[in-house]
Amino acid sequence: MLTHLFRMHGLLVASHQWEVIVGTVTLTICMMSMNMFTGNDQICGWNFDCPKTEEQILSSDIIILTITRCIAIVYIYFQFQNLRQLGSKYILGIAGLFTIFSSFVFSTVVIHFLDKELTGLNEALPFFLLLIDLSKACALAKFALSSNSQDEVRDNIARGMAVLGPTFTLDALVECLVIGVGTMSGVRQLEIMCCFGCMSVLANYFVFMTFFPACVSLVLELSRESQEGHPIWQLSHFSRVMEEEEDNKPNPVTQRVKMIMSLGLVMVHAHSRWIAEPLSINTPVGMPQVSMELDHLSPRRIEPEKPLWHFYLTRMISMDIEQVICLALALLLAIKYIFFEQVEMESTLSLKNPMTMSAPALTPRRPIETCCRMEPYTPQSLAPAQSVAAPAPARKEERDEVIRPLSAPATDPQPKSIFVVGGGEEEFKSKIEKSTLLQKPRSLDECVAILNNPELGPRLLSDAEVMLLVNSKHIPAYKLEAMMERPERGVAIRRQMISAKLPSPSALSSLPYTNYDYSKLGGGASSRILADSMTRGPVVRLPSACQASEVKAWLESTDGFQAIKDAFDNTSRFARLQKLLVALAGRNLYIRFHSKTGDAMGMNMISKGTEQALSRLQQNFPELQVVAISGNYCTDKKPAAINWIEGRGKSAVCEATIPAKVVREVLKTSTEALVEVNISKNLVGSAMAGSIGGCNAHAANLVAAIYIACGQDPAQSVGSSNCITLMEASGPTGEDLYISCTMPSIELGTVGGGTNLPPQQACLQMLGVQGASQDCPGENARQLARVVCATVLAGELSLMAALAAGHLVKSHMTHNRSKVNLQETPVTCIKKAS
Ligand code: NAP
Repeated sequence: MLTHLFRMHGLLVASHQWEVIVGTVTLTICMMSMNMFTGNDQICGWNFDCPKTEEQILSSDIIILTITRCIAIVYIYFQFQNLRQLGSKYILGIAGLFTIFSSFVFSTVVIHFLDKELTGLNEALPFFLLLIDLSKACALAKFALSSNSQDEVRDNIARGMAVLGPTFTLDALVECLVIGVGTMSGVRQLEIMCCFGCMSVLANYFVFMTFFPACVSLVLELSRESQEGHPIWQLSHFSRVMEEEEDNKPNPVTQRVKMIMSLGLVMVHAHSRWIAEPLSINTPVGMPQVSMELDHLSPRRIEPEKPLWHFYLTRMISMDIEQVICLALALLLAIKYIFFEQVEMESTLSLKNPMTMSAPALTPRRPIETCCRMEPYTPQSLAPAQSVAAPAPARKEERDEVIRPLSAPATDPQPKSIFVVGGGEEEFKSKIEKSTLLQKPRSLDECVAILNNPELGPRLLSDAEVMLLVNSKHIPAYKLEAMMERPERGVAIRRQMISAKLPSPSALSSLPYTNYDYSKLGGGASSRILADSMTRGPVVRLPSACQASEVKAWLESTDGFQAIKDAFDNTSRFARLQKLLVALAGRNLYIRFHSKTGDAMGMNMISKGTEQALSRLQQNFPELQVVAISGNYCTDKKPAAINWIEGRGKSAVCEATIPAKVVREVLKTSTEALVEVNISKNLVGSAMAGSIGGCNAHAANLVAAIYIACGQDPAQSVGSSNCITLMEASGPTGEDLYISCTMPSIELGTVGGGTNLPPQQACLQMLGVQGASQDCPGENARQLARVVCATVLAGELSLMAALAAGHLVKSHMTHNRSKVNLQETPVTCIKKAS
């Protein structure tokens, strides 16, 4: 009910921005003018030196006040730091500043309206800042900024109001009551400040509930839409704010505590106001008398003949020690925030490079991104079809061309190696820093020197230079994250490199990658290729079993094998006969050709070779008849023990140790339970079923998914899913989980067949294995097999954990079950047809 009310209120305010803004401003001016009639226009500390009280100000009071001010300054500083973590220092900073400013103006007006002399305003300001919670204003701004259209802005503000409104109301109440206690403290200045504090909280609440959402809505409405149809304010990573809505909801326990606390405080106030002696006369409840001590003093105003600067200079010279401390602290933090942290921010943004943050990065449509220190990135700036692991272009000039920013003329001579030129270390460093800021990629030699210098390192290399080093293999592609100063930067750069090769460079924009603990990924899973050999097994027939046995003997002899191999190898640049496995069934002869096939899966390739080899065999044995080029002894696309035992394609193994904590907290089970399920299901269960190669939970799910995505022959998921999954307890306490997957017959390739299709090529590029490996034929395909094996391992872990924890059915009902009412469809069709 309450939430609904706040939502309606939010919607009203966001939909009638002008009315709310004009109404609030009019009210403010009215209050100001009503007070103007009383003739009180003094603001102490601004244009007017407050008369000092005759009361003796205790030194303890001064210490308390100084500490309070310092805390307020530091608090504000941290609030602004938090704002930055929201992703946009500027937009949300402005929101925060706006809140402070408007709240301050409004509270001043309220006090003015009450005809109180604004004595001690300068003291009250930092204290007042301590009361402002920018996080709520920013949370509301986040709700608004996560919208895709103006309608959504209104809805999201209403939604934000529904979530934040009740908490904010309760907080304002509690703050007022708590601060109200300070008005009874007996410390005169503290009483004044607490009085301002109460007014400020109320004013802040009023602003947050009306003026602020109306302004946010209006500003976003006035911002024009970008050319691509996206609002220019929309920040992609804010889209998660809706998912985080739950997190914004108040904790009911805290809410209850606050309610009880406020009830208690109401009683304290009631007691002190009604039963105890009033603190002052002519003062509203909760407001100490702030002007009574001024009557006998003549205030020092700005003298018209003296210039303003003279007034302020005089005031600065006559500052107290505590004022100097506060001013110095505020200045120090402001300088740190504005100058030093801005540089950090920019460098962070450069890591969240246009490419990596979101699609629009390719076009400079977001003003915020203009502060990035990277040159605008274009896909053309990378070699078109070069994979992450692909070698650098042949000539150095070409390689430099690859990363040269568009702004740099192609004829620019690259600076010579700074080591050759000589000069001191300082000069070296400053040159490097300068060059980094200028973003002109340096020569490969310079980049290598910086990378290898422990005092400099990748930190001082631009993203483009890191890419240059990856392409030239000075940074191994697989070690990119590990070699950067932060793994997240490595991930960002990898995404840039991959994005440039995808058919749609924005394809990765909605995949999050920030705020992960990448340290947990280091040392993940290890894998090895055990064998690489594709097979084709024709069936041939001889007039008799005895003649068939003679052919077998000849094929197994060195000369026979060599003759067949020569014929076979002649048919391809990559097919290389490794061995022949020959079996007899009466007068039928089954010959299993084992061959390397480079980066191709190799069935066409090897069939061609087999045909030639059989022709050669017929030359020696003219009575030999080829029954079929495939005699199912291969065995292709059918379950067969021969593949499980002898292997086919790539044989791979992958292993990992999962810490007990991860087993417990992420997988929600225990190592003991997992090991038990694995034995009972994958080993004993599969044996009971007479399974061959099926000692796993669901390897076929992962194999089929990767095969379809990466252009493999999906029918080969039959043999490729052969896998045995083993689990053991390990580690010093025996609570860690050791898991391995062994897959003897992964039939795949990175050239040929469906791998030539563009979307499938894009997926292979993402894995860094697209096409033929230039260095070592077959290496890309072997790497893909390792990826398959590791993915199967991850899938095994996931399903086994779900089984051990008893989550299998529940999760399938939530994520997998069809929500379509199938029974309704025909009826609808019939109705439509009639
Ligand atoms: P393929 O496209 O028929 O042959 C690969 C081609 O790529 C060959 O021409 C090969 O050169 C060339 N190539 C260039 N660089 C290479 C490298 N680094 N490594 C390997 N080859 C390289 O592909 P395939 O793998 O042999 O056959 C795959 C197709 O066969 C799939 O579509 C699959 O569905 C289908 N298939 C066929 C059968 C069958 O019985 N024929 C069975 C199952 C599946 P060379 O000319 O020098 O060899």
